Amino acid sequence: MKPKRPRKSARSKRPASKRPGRASTRAPRDPLLARMADADHRVIGGVSIDTTRTANGRVKRVCYPPGFRWSTHMKPIVSTPLCMHAHVGFLARGRVRGTYADGCAFDLTAPRAVVIEPGHDAWVVGKDAAVLIEFDTESRTAAHFGLPESHRHV
Ligand SMILES: [Zn+2]
Repeated sequence: MKPKRPRKSARSKRPASKRPGRASTRAPRDPLLARMADADHRVIGGVSIDTTRTANGRVKRVCYPPGFRWSTHMKPIVSTPLCMHAHVGFLARGRVRGTYADGCAFDLTAPRAVVIEPGHDAWVVGKDAAVLIEFDTESRTAAHFGLPESHRHV
């Protein structure tokens, strides 16, 4: 006895010209990773950075790949002992751990708002890239958000 062939759906018999739009048959683009038409795109130390000027500051989408560690991949490029950026924003995907010079540590898992003071090392934990949407005012970011120039306890 011949095995029954699975019935083709009515849709697949239609000529291509009468099929619904392509977009509906494809997986939707992930807006968290898709190309941004209006952003300045750079890759530095394996980190993908899309920057958009907004109001008097910038909005950045920063994608840190799995295995990324600031002290390994970025320190040789930046040549400061620790990352001296203030990071304020929303961790949309992934997990990031880090330490400050005095031994204080952070462990951040998406989804959550994040504030990381200047003067840290940080690395991606797990198999997923970490995607951070951050707000900055370039060199004035720490002062703008009321953070110290470098992590400390008052
Ligand atoms: Zn501390």
